[in-house]
Amino acid sequence: MDKLYSLSAKSMKELLEKREVSSVEITKSVIERIEKTDKDVCAYNSYNFENALKNAEAVDAKRAKGETLGALAGIPLAVKDNIHVKGLKTTCSSKMLENFVAPFNATVTDKLNASDAIIVGKTTMDEFAMGSSGESSKLAVAKNPWDTSRIPGGSSSGSAVTVAASQVPFAMGTDTGGSIRMPAAYTGVLGLKPTYGTVSRYGIIPLASSFDQAGPMARNVDDLAMLFGAVCGRDTKDAVTKNYTFDGYGDSVKGMKIGVPKEYYGEGVQPAVKERVFEAIETLKAQGAEIIDISLPSTEYALAAYYIICCAEAASNLGRYDGLRYGFRGSNTSNVEDLYLTTRSEGFGDEVKRRIMLGTCVLSSGYSDAYYKRAKLLQQNLAAEFTEAFKSCDVIITPSIALTAWKFGEKAGNPAEVYAADICTITLNIAGLPGMSVPCGFDSSNNMPVGFQIIGKKFRESDILTVAKCYENAVGGFAVKEF
Ligand code: GLN
Repeated sequence: MDKLYSLSAKSMKELLEKREVSSVEITKSVIERIEKTDKDVCAYNSYNFENALKNAEAVDAKRAKGETLGALAGIPLAVKDNIHVKGLKTTCSSKMLENFVAPFNATVTDKLNASDAIIVGKTTMDEFAMGSSGESSKLAVAKNPWDTSRIPGGSSSGSAVTVAASQVPFAMGTDTGGSIRMPAAYTGVLGLKPTYGTVSRYGIIPLASSFDQAGPMARNVDDLAMLFGAVCGRDTKDAVTKNYTFDGYGDSVKGMKIGVPKEYYGEGVQPAVKERVFEAIETLKAQGAEIIDISLPSTEYALAAYYIICCAEAASNLGRYDGLRYGFRGSNTSNVEDLYLTTRSEGFGDEVKRRIMLGTCVLSSGYSDAYYKRAKLLQQNLAAEFTEAFKSCDVIITPSIALTAWKFGEKAGNPAEVYAADICTITLNIAGLPGMSVPCGFDSSNNMPVGFQIIGKKFRESDILTVAKCYENAVGGFAVKEF
């Protein structure tokens, strides 16, 4: 069977269960596909082909013996390069960790292994997950499969790209302020940021620990749900995780109330994006959903609050890269202070340095009351507004991102504009809510994908997936880039 690589995870699973194909055959097909296409889209920092084939053989052998297999048995996938896979490098796309080999597995990786999935490689990202475009990577810089002169979005750039380019059916990303949902929207795939505390953060290199959450990316709702079900749940190694079991989803929005907050459709949102998102809302209305206008007034302060809290937490999380314990070490230094200075000056890129400086500033005495503490108050207000809004609706729909994918370098001189693009996604990380980006057509001016975001109540991923599934059925599935 040719083109095994392009199948959905669900179809792969069916064929494997019927023993019409083996995991080795699927994995070989995926490896060939990656070898053929990755020079064009650069989704990976490193490959894990040899182990992948060995693991596929082991799964096939288990199946032949009739042993019980996990939910993802024999299906290939990729994980973002900030998630530890023991024995493979975890680089965070940074010079600082370019040669760092993970000494243990993240819980997500343990869960993937327990479900017999086949990890084929580590996907590239913005350096330390700081960014929205993928351009801040210091290793591979992924390209958008729909137009390789354009950004794929970030920071889970490679995970989005490997799915969009049909190299693997699904992949794991992480999302601190939109890093799953933004690249999903830019590349025309689906991406879910689960409720904070749903997926363990253990073994994932932190950006802002109070926002970080790992989640799945896929080309259809069923695959996304399959991967989410395999990685979620309580973990004693991550105290914020909750006893959570994902209990599936439906496909009808009849009687569901969808809130539409006016603050998310302001001037900064490109007209083409607004049009497509409104069309998606109309589609859901035609399927029986009730549309309700709502307001989330604190949204205008969300960006400031996010970057203050994110940078503060990032600055302290990144304090560990001192050249002594692990990672890159500056050379020709004569004393410890010099070692810190050289290591951090040479090991980190500009975006990382900018955030460490901002974060250190907003936490310093004299400034912490004016910035950090006020940002934390705004966080409470925003969360309270969502709680209030959810009294009148089941889910909320917004654009996933205000723009469509731009050309590499186009916004290089203007980090503030790039930060501003995150406005639709960051509010969910601030409030700890789940959200998902779903493709909803294209911007006709550049033929790049547009995504809409479905926001749910805490731990109600099932509502989000129900809406997404209903939409997917109504539009007859999502476009896949032929490549
Ligand atoms: N663009 C956001 C930032 O740079 C998102 C980061 C993320 O979600 N990892 O902080």
